Amino acid sequence: MIVMKFGGSSVASADRIRHVAAIVANRRQRRPVVVVSAMGKTTDRLLEIAGHAVAGRRDKALELLRALEQFHLEEGGSLDGRVEGLFVELSELVRGLAMLGELTPRSIDAISSYGERLSSLIVAEAFRQAGLGAVHVDSREVIVTDSRHTQASPLFDETYSRLQAAIPPLAGKRVVVMGGFIASDRNGVTTTLGRGGSDFTASIAGAGIGAEEIQIWTDVDGILTADPRVVKGVHRVKVISFEEAAELAYFGARVLHPATVLPAIEKNIPVLVLNSYRPEVDGTRIVADRVPCTNVVKSISTKRNITVVNITSTRMVGTHGFLRRIFEIFDRNETSVDMVSTSEVSVSATIDRPAELPKIRDELEAFSQVDVEENQAIICLVGDNIRYTPGVSGRVFKALNGVNIRMISQGASLLNLGFVVAAKDVERALEALHAEFFSELDPQVFE
Ligand code: ASP
Ligand code: MG
Repeated sequence: MIVMKFGGSSVASADRIRHVAAIVANRRQRRPVVVVSAMGKTTDRLLEIAGHAVAGRRDKALELLRALEQFHLEEGGSLDGRVEGLFVELSELVRGLAMLGELTPRSIDAISSYGERLSSLIVAEAFRQAGLGAVHVDSREVIVTDSRHTQASPLFDETYSRLQAAIPPLAGKRVVVMGGFIASDRNGVTTTLGRGGSDFTASIAGAGIGAEEIQIWTDVDGILTADPRVVKGVHRVKVISFEEAAELAYFGARVLHPATVLPAIEKNIPVLVLNSYRPEVDGTRIVADRVPCTNVVKSISTKRNITVVNITSTRMVGTHGFLRRIFEIFDRNETSVDMVSTSEVSVSATIDRPAELPKIRDELEAFSQVDVEENQAIICLVGDNIRYTPGVSGRVFKALNGVNIRMISQGASLLNLGFVVAAKDVERALEALHAEFFSELDPQVFE
């Protein structure tokens, strides 16, 4: 058995769904279990509709809901009235929300679950029409979570035993189709695994049924040596360790959120990132073990729109508790810090959500001097050879000759080396670094 996950853009239209059916049909002998996201931007739309409803704009909400129904009927079909039936439920929900004027996490899950409930039924039907035997499984019957609505965590033992009982007997004969993202708690109340949660569903399902492989189908060729929009001549990373992929994701690689593939990695199931627009490309294989490589660096990620906050206080000299005070302020204002560097009298921290910055600044200024630099970017080199190779930072500084480096930090994991440069320097820096670290390639790892 293999698990194949297709995201929202891969199932955004009748045409894209037919394409998915062809990709699945080609792998049919591997007994695929297909996990799909909501079609296109449906989850965003549903949340927007809920927002209008509780803000007293019921008619606007219902109007948008009709447009969403139209979209599903046009691209997915009616399924003998089942699609219309789900939209009747949705409109009742919307009216209820408008009446209550309050959006609880539980009702957010109730409404956002419809995206995957619809898409999974629609995709199963499209498979049948394409001549693929398909069977729909309601993920809420097999994925059991706690009750932390909008961000629920699976109860793995219960979930795995349900998956094991339900899926393998079906997968032998037909293609199983399940919605990602949605689940239910012990009482049968609908929950969701958090935004982008379909990757997580795929990995849970794969781990639960002991799949031989999990395929995450996206719209890129996999993990690349750098952002192809910035650097010309980037290469595909054919295989990378889980640890390295996780490091890349924290620092901007959009490919997939590493925490979501953890259940698969724990069971030693490889996760493949593949391109549904170019299914002939082999993609990137993410594996549990380290990947030997003659290159020091496997990939360079970039995270833009970074703000650097420099905090200086002479009162810091020889005292303790200063860092705690600083981080408590970020914490209280729900702002997460990506990179930190410190000296005896100053701390620099980077953030990517500056919404609370004015408040944070006020609180910090009670005991220090604060200086903020906007329009910065983090560039991060990732590769587990970094920890075994002396002189990597020397090569970086040399390659970046002329680019001002604001902050530099080597993570505790020792497999990344990150630094901050001004946004305007990103292109120049990336080109120089790519040339420095990828002029020769280990053919086992890159293509
Ligand atoms: N449909 C959900 C979302 O948009 C889950 C997913 O796409 O992975 O967040
Ligand atoms: Mg996604």
